[in-house]
Amino acid sequence: MPDMPDSRNWFKPVAAERQRHLTASRRQGSAIAVDGRTLVNFASNDYLGLAHHPEVCAAAMQSIERNGLGSGASRLVSGDDPAIHRLEGQLAEWKGFEACLTVGSGMLANMGLLQSLADRHTQIFADRLNHASLVDGARLAGAASHRYHHLDNHQLETLLQKHVGERRLIVSDGVFSMDGDCAEVAALLTMAERHDTLLVIDDAHGVGTVGDGRGLTSAAGIAGHPRLVEIGTFGKAFGGYGAFILGSRALIEGLRQRLRTMFYSTALPPAIFEAMLVSLSLIRAGTLTRQLQDNVERFRALAEGLPLLASDTAIQPLMMGSDARALAAAEALQDAGLFVPAIRPPTVPEGMARLRITLSAAHSAEQISRLATALRQLP
Ligand SMILES: *Cc1c(COP(=O)(O)O)cnc(C)c1O
Repeated sequence: MPDMPDSRNWFKPVAAERQRHLTASRRQGSAIAVDGRTLVNFASNDYLGLAHHPEVCAAAMQSIERNGLGSGASRLVSGDDPAIHRLEGQLAEWKGFEACLTVGSGMLANMGLLQSLADRHTQIFADRLNHASLVDGARLAGAASHRYHHLDNHQLETLLQKHVGERRLIVSDGVFSMDGDCAEVAALLTMAERHDTLLVIDDAHGVGTVGDGRGLTSAAGIAGHPRLVEIGTFGKAFGGYGAFILGSRALIEGLRQRLRTMFYSTALPPAIFEAMLVSLSLIRAGTLTRQLQDNVERFRALAEGLPLLASDTAIQPLMMGSDARALAAAEALQDAGLFVPAIRPPTVPEGMARLRITLSAAHSAEQISRLATALRQLP
């Protein structure tokens, strides 16, 4: 007789080659200490080095001294802090939208946003490579999802013609997290207008890194459009934690009334908002974004001829094919003092295992040329 299920046999074992491992590490600027060794970190989304910036950290520490650590409650109860309102105002103004709402994380922002915007009668048109939080948000809403091939605007057009309905959303990452390529956001907005849909762009990897730092929608000249709703996060280029949603005043006010992932979750610590105000002013100064872009250009030039995906963003994936080859390459790089993660299915499609190299403004020219040399020496 099979054992009765309890917590010890509830889950079927995960196949050894599919197991995910957590490895504790400590990070400092572009360095990472793993297993007692210090390596150069090419595996972080801290694209501007702000997670360790002295002014950002000082703002957080001063806030903790004055206001303590935790916010103690949801914003709706007693966790609302004046710094949140200041930051929301500045983000909206900088990004060129009427209004902004901060949320605990990008995952919470996307799940709550799609749950609020959509219901069983809504149709969602989504790029196949969208971040998991957008996939889960659509599921939570109970909406019908139509997924199109990555960046395939023709297929999207066909799907929009086929699946008519009153309330529809086109949903896409801005900069794609595993490929580093970009949605054609202006073309998507044109389609949204032609087909009377909303456009939701998650530019978690584009804010702080693309264009003048304001991200893809600003670079494309569509920021603030009334059909556009945008998500950005503090966990990446801002060097902190949390997320924000941008849109028209009416839309953001509607979310304030509906966003379950804001109501039913403790507000972020005030220190985060004080620190993110400083990150924002440093991003606005422009120097760090330009340093990052120079580093990307330097790396692309040094790595010419290697099987890199076509990306001009901070995410530079090097295709490895098999899982085994990606793992062996990551190990060889680690031996050379470089920390680069192997990304395997199911995070990416079968046969598309890769090294996901992320560059930062904090990398020196010497570190980048060391990486390019090591990549050339891979078997
Ligand atoms: C990282 C990421 C998220 C999740 O943001 P967190 O703040 O880390 O929860 C959402 N969308 C995209 C595209 C991301 O890359």
